[in-house]
Amino acid sequence: MRERTRILLLGGTRDALELARRLVLDPRLDLTSSLAGRTWNPTRIPGELRVGGFGGPAGLAHYLKDHTINLLVDATHAFATTMAHNAAAACEQLGLPRLKLLRPAWRPVEGDRWIEVASTAEAAAALRGLAERVFLTSGRQEIEAFADLSDIWFLVRLIDPPGNPLPLARHEVILDRGPFDQAAETALMEKHGIQALVTKNSGGGLIQAKITAARRLGLPVVMIRRPEPPPGEIVESVEAALAWIEQRAGRPP
Ligand code: NAP
Repeated sequence: MRERTRILLLGGTRDALELARRLVLDPRLDLTSSLAGRTWNPTRIPGELRVGGFGGPAGLAHYLKDHTINLLVDATHAFATTMAHNAAAACEQLGLPRLKLLRPAWRPVEGDRWIEVASTAEAAAALRGLAERVFLTSGRQEIEAFADLSDIWFLVRLIDPPGNPLPLARHEVILDRGPFDQAAETALMEKHGIQALVTKNSGGGLIQAKITAARRLGLPVVMIRRPEPPPGEIVESVEAALAWIEQRAGRPP
């Protein structure tokens, strides 16, 4: 009998969750999902789950060897570049097949008023003189970059309550993990008198409503460009990731 193919799925995204839901149904596979442990109450992932960092590329390589992993699927967020590069380095060291699942970036369409920037620091600089009331959706870890903008009022959307007070002079926090719909996003921005939106170019459909809402309201969007992923195979959908795994499932390592 063939051995089951052991897969490590680096998660923290909806695509990773969807992929895990599909992979656990396949009896040829032995799936472990991995989360960094940033959110307090993550959506339950089917199959085995481990939480917390591996200890850099060396720690990850050790884990992969120790658990005789056959395939690694990196479905971390487009902005989780440290993890992506660690995965690339560890897999290269071990000669292990690795796939990056990366949903396509959003692209501006007619009517969009995007100001594309390369970092949160550039996003903060772009806000000066642009708006007095800003909807900030770039995530808890990035808020420090906006700390000097004491003249701006921020509506900050987070998944978890911030453990410590946010380093913003004037703000309100709302907690929500989506998915979001366009009518609600438009109403939220109108209610708070939002004049600009700040977002990472995460891509994907479930949180795109804020972009459409900003377009409809004629608001500028400060769009933080994605960092480059490490070189290697990339697919843009769960279906394509399943096909990649299917090609390799059951093969000897
Ligand atoms: P990061 O900067 O690329 O990674 C920092 C460290 O966190 C990594 O070196 C690794 O620690 C650990 N880590 C990250 N993802 C992990 C995973 N799936 N399993 C185990 N350890 C992991 O990552 P980040 O931007 O802080 O993102 C953390 C998690 O949140 C990721 O899983 C990502 O998919 C998710 N997420 C991130 C964003 C974002 O905007 N960055 C948005 C939505 C979701 P060690 O070096 O010790 O292994």
